[in-house]
Amino acid sequence: MNLFVSGGAGYIGSIFVEEALNAGHRVTVYDNLSEGHRAAVDPRAGLVTGDLEESERLTDALSAARPEAIIHFAANALVGESMTNPGKYFLNNVGNGVRLLEAVVKVGVGKFVFSSTCAVYGTPARLPMTEDLPLQPVNPYGESKRMFERILEWYQQLHGLEFVAFRYFNAAGASERLGEHHRIETHLIPNVLKVALGQADHCEIFGADYPTPDGTCIRDYIHVRDLAQAHLLALAPGKRGVFNLGNGSGYSVREVIDACAQVSGCRIPALERPRRPGDPPRLVAGATRAVQELGWQPRYPGLQTIVESAWRWHRAHPQGYAE
Ligand code: UDP
Repeated sequence: MNLFVSGGAGYIGSIFVEEALNAGHRVTVYDNLSEGHRAAVDPRAGLVTGDLEESERLTDALSAARPEAIIHFAANALVGESMTNPGKYFLNNVGNGVRLLEAVVKVGVGKFVFSSTCAVYGTPARLPMTEDLPLQPVNPYGESKRMFERILEWYQQLHGLEFVAFRYFNAAGASERLGEHHRIETHLIPNVLKVALGQADHCEIFGADYPTPDGTCIRDYIHVRDLAQAHLLALAPGKRGVFNLGNGSGYSVREVIDACAQVSGCRIPALERPRRPGDPPRLVAGATRAVQELGWQPRYPGLQTIVESAWRWHRAHPQGYAE
């Protein structure tokens, strides 16, 4: 198929692009390179540098690409930042998302695949989390994604734009060539691996007083290549709806630090810090809907395997992508 990928220079987007090209699809990437990296865009893909805010540029890029499906990764995605700068999240994740939808309707595209998040659920009343749980986000990041899911329902109903929304749990790991490089790194695994690389002398644990067995937050880490595969399955005709993407196993912050120490063979000192506002204690996916309805099967489910792939990439690219 001919695919148009917003945010295709970012961490998850770039690895999706690589997998899509390997599967024989054609790809145009649209990215403002604010978080993404030119070097992360597979050279087999076309790259248009632009912001979703630039409606004319966006419409031109869509008209030139004439895609059959949009995969919309471009967004701001930091829980902590959304608690201090909510406007940035609503303007970009909601407002600019609507600009993309308007352009998509104008040029006429049949399918829209959206990167949503488990943060739409807030603090879940039960685990594992299934798609029918109430949506009660506890931070503006999750709220912005929930709002955009609702907007997609209206565009599906009123404009016939078929959509799939994937509620990601914690994306982690790397492919052979592409990995996680944020200019300001806030994510757990890359920050812990910085200690193993000798770039920091300790890592930080945000909250050791949660109601969990070891007092630290529990998350469901999912390999970024497994996320990418689910998006390819969503392209099949008739697939629509919302799907969780996670492995169904939760690991605490301390368990992640231990896995990083084991995989790297390095000692990783950790300091306990106060809780980070907006963090729910436990998030673990129930993802049987994606397995049953899309035929999704995670190929790299273990935390050890996920951390190994991240460690391989960070060791080969200690400074990330060249700017
Ligand atoms: N975390 C931490 N130290 C760090 C980064 C993150 O303790 O340096 C915690 C964070 O509070 C959360 C978990 O690790 O409980 C996962 O955070 P991350 O930012 O990787 O992903 P999120 O769950 O926010 O999407």
